[in-house]
Order: sequence, then structure tokens, then C-alpha cells
Amino acid sequence: MSAHPLDILRTVYGYGAFRGRQAEIIDHVIAGRHAFVLMPTGGGKSLCYQIPALVRPGTGLVVSPLIALMEDQVATLRQAGMRAAALNSRIGGAERDEIWRQMRRGEIDLVYMAPETLLRPETLERLKSVRLSVIAIDEAHCLSQWGHDFRPEYRGLDVLVELFPDVPRMALTATADAPTREEIVAHLAIGAENSFIAGFDRPNIRYGVAEKQSQTQQMLRFLNARKGESGIVYCLSKRKTEEVAATLNAHGFSALAYHAGMDMAAREANQRRFQHGEGLVMVATIAFGMGIDKPDVRFVLHVDLPASIEAYYQETGRAGRDGLPAETLMLYGAEDIALRRRFIDESDAPAERKRMEHRKLDALLGFAESCQCRRQVLLRYFGDDCPPCGNCDVCLDPPETFDGTIAAQKLLSCIHRTGGRYGQGHVISVLLGEEDERIAQLGHDKLSTYGIGREFDRAQWRSIVRQLVAHGLVTVDVAGHGGLSISAKGASFLRERSSIMLRALKKPAHGGRRAARR
Ligand code: ADP
Ligand code: ZN
Repeated sequence: MSAHPLDILRTVYGYGAFRGRQAEIIDHVIAGRHAFVLMPTGGGKSLCYQIPALVRPGTGLVVSPLIALMEDQVATLRQAGMRAAALNSRIGGAERDEIWRQMRRGEIDLVYMAPETLLRPETLERLKSVRLSVIAIDEAHCLSQWGHDFRPEYRGLDVLVELFPDVPRMALTATADAPTREEIVAHLAIGAENSFIAGFDRPNIRYGVAEKQSQTQQMLRFLNARKGESGIVYCLSKRKTEEVAATLNAHGFSALAYHAGMDMAAREANQRRFQHGEGLVMVATIAFGMGIDKPDVRFVLHVDLPASIEAYYQETGRAGRDGLPAETLMLYGAEDIALRRRFIDESDAPAERKRMEHRKLDALLGFAESCQCRRQVLLRYFGDDCPPCGNCDVCLDPPETFDGTIAAQKLLSCIHRTGGRYGQGHVISVLLGEEDERIAQLGHDKLSTYGIGREFDRAQWRSIVRQLVAHGLVTVDVAGHGGLSISAKGASFLRERSSIMLRALKKPAHGGRRAARR
């Protein structure tokens, strides 16, 4: 087959035009090059490997972790007239042999496999006699040891690099922060120049963040302005969803609760009511949202802090699916931050994992405190970008700022003098000129930056660190020990003696200087 991608889009899929960077990615892969594709859920990743598989000679191999989803996909493709098959543990011997025969004869356009099936020695052996058009690794973040979905068998997929060096490889995912992206691209030898990141902007969503003063008052003010519309209020705990729903019902809203502690029937009933009803407020923990696809969710309110920027993006992304204006507000307070930290510390996760979750939380706080356009900070986190949006709280009502140039210079030079590898706890201790055994051992009390930051307390320095991370001047070694280093942007900031405005810092809390080290 040598049809043109656009003809295939129209005749096979029945769509009029490609979306976003689909056409570019498809052409790139058809030309035989590798690709890393980062697009949000629903962005249209499947077409990016399905069409090259139809255009290039041979069978497209798709690695996918979920057998149920795989079977759905195959059924849909067959209905559209494609020659698709799935090989997994559920498929019996005779059918399996028949699929292999068809693949060898080039009669299958796409074959889906779970990684554990693919990595069996006999599968790999048989694959050598099949002509492959493209290798697509879906949900590629599963290979990252730092991701939330790590699947050890995904690590083994790098054998494909050696076995089929000339077949274009694609890695596709909807969630990957910078270290995860780098890990995927390196592990599958895709080449950083083959990255396609797109589609994260949701222009109709207005972003807003506010410090928590009085949760109930702030919540009611936000919701009263949106009475009669449907939306979601996210809470951290099961008990709190019940309490907030009760408060809202007492104030004349129709609120429903949703959390994993409710029995299945009650949960499903509330989900159905929300899905089909109008003017309902769903008060939920993050258990709610998987597979929800209500187009007219007009607002998402976080009364508690989400776990990370990815989680925040996913949760706010449930608003405005219909493309009409939607509004979000995230409230954050010192207590929330402490609670989130405790959650992480008290979990059973290994120490490295906990450190990573603390860094992810720091990135979210950097977003919350940033005085840059919210959309810019969000998109840059995913490797995407945009001009200041005019549709977020920062653009519409710029926050109070101060000239943070000297603070930034002090922090960057302290990172530099200590060798660019210590975590923020240590760097801040040096800036504060603390007397500390480790500092003495390392000789860091002899540095010119020792004690030059006493005008701020520890909490204020932590805010400065987060803001400089959000600005991209400082890099945190997320996968390692959280060491701070100066980014290329930070180096040119110093070299060119640039200036920077930072969001005003909170007044020192008592005992701030001695507050817990982190
Ligand atoms: P992802 O895998 O990125 O989550 P999918 O590939 O499942 O997303 O696509 C999401 C939906 O968008 C599917 O229903 C798909 O058919 C549809 N879609 C994809 N590309 C286009 C397009 N160019 N035009 C219209 N619909 C599209
Ligand atoms: Zn903005």
C-alpha cells in the first residue's frame, strides 16, 4: 500500500484534517526516523503510529500494557477495515499460530502485544522472520523507574533496539516530566532531536491559584459566582469530601460526594448523576475522574493541594472539554503542604521515591508561587511553551513582586561555590551561616558565600529556590538526591548580569530560621 496519509485519514478514519503535530510526526516516521511523542490523553497519539504502519510495508508492532484496552483498539481497527491483531496471554495456541502465519506473509498491518508476551524468547525469535514497519511503545513512561506506573518488564524493551536497529521506533506517552523524558529517549535510543511535544495547551481553561485564607469563604465565593454550572471540587481525604459536600448542600448547592471508601453502587450512582445532570457539584478525591468524560464541566476547584504538576494538569483538564470557557482555582496553604509532606514521609515507598515525590511537590509549589504566566509555567514543565496567555490570574492581576536579583545571585553563587551538587537544605544552611558539623567538615564555612543570606529566613529561601527552579535558573536532580545545580539559563543570568522579579515573600514565621531542614 502506498496511500497518502491524508487519504488514509479521510477514507479509513473518516476525519477531515490532522490535528496539532500529527501530520508532521507521521511524515517523520514514514521517512524512517524515530520519534518520541508526548501529547495529552485524547490528543490523538494512536494515529501517529497507525498511519505509518499502514503506509510502510510490513507489520507495525505496538507494545501496550493493558490487555483490555488492547482488545478494544483491535476491535475498532478491524471495524474500520484494518488488518489488526493482538497477541497476549489470553490468546490460545491455534489462533496464535494463525496470527504468526499472517504476519510472516505480510497480511497484518498492526499487531498489539503486551511487553511480557513480546519479551519471551520464542516471540522474539519468531519476530525475526516478520518484516516490521514500525515499533510503537505506548505508555512509554512505564519504563521510567521514577514514574508512577513503573513496570519492570518495560525496561527490557531495549532489546528491540539491537534486534531491529533499522525499524523506526516510537515512544508515546501523556505524562513525562523532564527527567522521565530524558530517560525514555535514552533507554530506547531515540535521539533527543526526534522529540515531538504538543497539544498541552488548553486555551479555554483559565488558571488561578490563591493562598488559603478561609477555605469555606473562598470556596463559597468561587462557587456562588458559578451557581447552576457543573464542576468538580477536589479534596485530599474521604472525610473531607463528605464534609465539603454537606457544607455546599447547606448553602443551596446540589453537591455529590465521591471517594474510594464509598460502596460501588453509591459511587456509580453519583457518577451517573453527575455525568448526565446539570448544575451539580461533584466533591471528590482523586479516585474520581478516571474515565469521566463530561464535556461541560465548567470549573475545577482544588480546596487541597494536588500531588504534583502532572496531577494538577490532569485534574484541571477535566474542565472545558467542550472548548467553552472554564475556570479553575487551586487553594494552597502551609498546612496542606505539611500534610502532603507527611503523606510522603509516612508512606512505605523507598527513600529515593520519597525524595522524588518531595521534589515534585516543590515543583508544584514553585508553580503556585510563581509570578510568571501560569500557562507558561505549566507548558514549560511539559517541554512545551507559549507567550503570556492573558487568561490566568497572573496575567489578569499581576501579583506583588520584589527585585530578586541579588537574592538570585547569592543563591546561584552559593550553589556554584559548594560544587553544584548539594540539596537545598545544605545550600540554605550555608547562606544562613549556620554552625553545623557537616558544613565545618566540608569547609563550607570558609566560603565567601557563607552567611551572606541572613536577610531571609529558611522558609523564605525555600520560596526563592522554588521560584528560581520555576524560572529555570536552577535545576534539581530529581532522580538522584535532589542536588541543586545551575542551569544553562542560570549561568547566562549570572554572566549577563540580568535582573529578575520574584513574588513577594511571606513575613518570617517565628522560629523560621530553625524550622525543619529539607
Ligand atoms: P491518545 O492516544 O492520545 O489518548 P487517541 O489516539 O485515542 O488519543 O485519540 C483520541 C480521540 O481523538 C479518538 O477518538 C480519535 O479517533 C480522535 N482523533 C484523533 N486524531 C483525530 C483527527 N485528526 N481528527 C479528528 N479526531 C481525531
Ligand atoms: Zn497567563
